[in-house]
Amino acid sequence: MSGILLQEIKFLPGVGPRKSVILNQELKVFTLGDLIYYFPYKYVDRTKFYTIREINSTLPYIQVKGRITGSEVIGIGRNQRLVAYLTDGTGILELIWFQGIKFVTQSIKTGIEYIVFGKPTEFNNQFSIVHPELDENVPDPSKKEGFIQAFYNTSEKLKSNFIHSKNILKLQYAALHLAKGSIYESMPAWLVQKLGMLGLETALINIHFPESPQLLRKAEYRLKFEELFYIQLKLLHLREDRHKKFKGHVFTKVGNYFNDFFYNHLPFELTNAQKRVVREIRKDMGTGRQMNRLLQGDVGSGKTMVALMSMLIALDNGFQCCLMAPTEILANQHYISIQKFLGNMSVKVKLLTGSTKKTDRAVIHSELLNGDLHLLIGTHALLEDIVQFESLGLVIIDEQHRFGVTQRAKLWRKNFIPPHVLVMTATPIPRTLAMTVYGDLDVSVIDELPPGRKPIKTVHYFENKRAQVYDFIRKEIAEGRQVYIVFPLISESEKMDYKNLEEGYEQIKKLFPLPDYSIGMVHGRMKPAMKDIEMQRFKSGETQILVATTVIEVGVDVPNASVMIIESSERFGLSQLHQLRGRVGRGAEQSFCMLLSSFKLGMESRKRIETMVATNDGFEIAEADMRLRGPGDIEGTQQSGIAFDLKISNLAKDGQILQYARDIAESIITADPMLEQPQNDILKKQLLALRKNHLNWGSIS
Ligand code: ADP
Ligand code: MG
Repeated sequence: MSGILLQEIKFLPGVGPRKSVILNQELKVFTLGDLIYYFPYKYVDRTKFYTIREINSTLPYIQVKGRITGSEVIGIGRNQRLVAYLTDGTGILELIWFQGIKFVTQSIKTGIEYIVFGKPTEFNNQFSIVHPELDENVPDPSKKEGFIQAFYNTSEKLKSNFIHSKNILKLQYAALHLAKGSIYESMPAWLVQKLGMLGLETALINIHFPESPQLLRKAEYRLKFEELFYIQLKLLHLREDRHKKFKGHVFTKVGNYFNDFFYNHLPFELTNAQKRVVREIRKDMGTGRQMNRLLQGDVGSGKTMVALMSMLIALDNGFQCCLMAPTEILANQHYISIQKFLGNMSVKVKLLTGSTKKTDRAVIHSELLNGDLHLLIGTHALLEDIVQFESLGLVIIDEQHRFGVTQRAKLWRKNFIPPHVLVMTATPIPRTLAMTVYGDLDVSVIDELPPGRKPIKTVHYFENKRAQVYDFIRKEIAEGRQVYIVFPLISESEKMDYKNLEEGYEQIKKLFPLPDYSIGMVHGRMKPAMKDIEMQRFKSGETQILVATTVIEVGVDVPNASVMIIESSERFGLSQLHQLRGRVGRGAEQSFCMLLSSFKLGMESRKRIETMVATNDGFEIAEADMRLRGPGDIEGTQQSGIAFDLKISNLAKDGQILQYARDIAESIITADPMLEQPQNDILKKQLLALRKNHLNWGSIS
């Protein structure tokens, strides 16, 4: 037992009861192990010393040896500062403090040599360092001269309790000193050897106190690999376990429903990607295991058709299906287009949403139970307990990231043998993230748009070009096209946003008056029935301009609409902008997306808009989004804790390591599904510990 890592942090020399509480609260550090696994966020090479004469303004950090010749307090009030003058014989460097003036004044000594470290800035040919790190140049056991220094994230509270990055480094030194010799390997020896990785103890020492840049890189690799590997192993083990536990319906045949549709009703040729995905799904539903599949496909890639054809296979095998969408507009639209696709085929389809009448509901409920109803489309209303099927064989969830895991599970339980599950998303998420967040699902990708689509042209206009935009709208409408104008509505409760929307609507009505133009409006506060009426008016071409909020974001399909204007586009997230843009470009005409913004653009907003202008590819956009915001904030992943708890890996940067870790995990699970072979003992123990949701230092021996 490696009990040492479980030792409470308060017993570590230099911590004590008061600081230990702060470490608990601020860093969730309770034990020595927790501390050692609190990794640096950056390193600074302190092997090099500069002379003061060598300093120039391009250097990020510098290190100088010198003596302080004197100091003085300058300025008053908020401008008051302490300036100390450091010299090394080649020049003078000013050291400046705005805070702790009294303390610093008392502690600096003249005549002894200091090592000064910090970021130099230049003013009037004079270099200075604000709040430098100042160390007397005496031997310190916790660091050698000429070393790579680790830096740790701290908080205001930590700092005000004298726990700075440097103090954490000292604690790490003490902790590693105590633990040395008792940190046991957490990966099987054969794997460490096979991958030529550092052993755990060496890796942990070098991550805090790198002996060389090479060893630091190896330490990072080892720890990242381990972290990603165990997540993948856990996910794949879970999938294996589920396959074992849950028998799935075996859909052996492709029968009349599918064939009749395929040969007599299919309105267009399927794209190769659609064909491939239908094949993948068909195969999956025939294995005798429950299907759990994620279908990723950019907006407009034709996921609805794939959903329909999958459902027809279920019907051919005597089962019912349901399709759940996050909004009424979307459910309604699926209902209409699926009915249209099916034409006169004898498939009974119904729609169930919050606004379905009570009497109709009762009919639906009983038709589901006696098997009369083949296919139910709807919203959250499908989840209600009263909705029970005679034999539910396949569940499809559209825009699945809008639903939680528990909601997914609710549909599962509507049949004794759990139905096959296909979740669809038009919010592509980066591959690395998909592998982690949906790593226990099988994934199909539609990576091809139906033929004849012209890429949408995207332009960015500042608000002063508004008149130009309106002229363009007039021109497009004259050619018979339709236009969306979207206003940001960040939260339903924000009165300001509604005011903007209403004002925008009035303005547009004035600029595009009756009888030549007819304008509609949809937003989240309208009654569903009203929303539907407005959507239908737009769909039928009765209105040419639809002023809207993001309620039209998901899946709405009006092929004749060719212009998407987004007001205050700087306020939208990347995936939202991409979704909105996907509302146009659905027909054969050239489509346009115009991003209006104010002149004041932050760095991130600017990058978002630039990305939108540069590419139409949803996967590329997702990658950019992840780089901008970090994996934790990507839409579609919020329900998963996994992506945010990473201690050292970064899904935006460590894709290669992740892929390798998954491949290795996969080969292990294939060879030894339940991890019963002795050489995989450690893996099994680690997984058990992970299940308890923390690494259990003590369980490894
Ligand atoms: P999404 O994947 O965003 O849900 P949809 O299923 O709404 O996309 O499809 C977008 C549009 O493309 C619809 O009008 C649909 O009928 C049409 N479509 C789908 N597949 C094809 C195809 N293979 N060829 C031509 N049009 C298609
Ligand atoms: Mg869709």
